[in-house]
Amino acid sequence: MDSPLVKVDDKQVPLYRIVWVSDVPHFCGDEECMHEGDYEIRLDVDDSLWTNGEGRDSVVAALNRWGSDPRGASDDW
Ligand SMILES: [Zn+2]
Repeated sequence: MDSPLVKVDDKQVPLYRIVWVSDVPHFCGDEECMHEGDYEIRLDVDDSLWTNGEGRDSVVAALNRWGSDPRGASDDW
């Protein structure tokens, strides 16, 4: 059984682990913050990946493809 993957930076991420994808760039005002301007991809393991706008778009596109593919539809939906 294969699970759909999307590449975020150097990682292949299973789509089913993604909870949400940020619509706007991260901003928290913290000077120490490493992710200012990056887009957050929230994972179900209480962890996040960070990517640029292009990476975010490809993740959203992959999720949309996955969700709309009848062969990919499972009872989970
Ligand atoms: Zn921050």
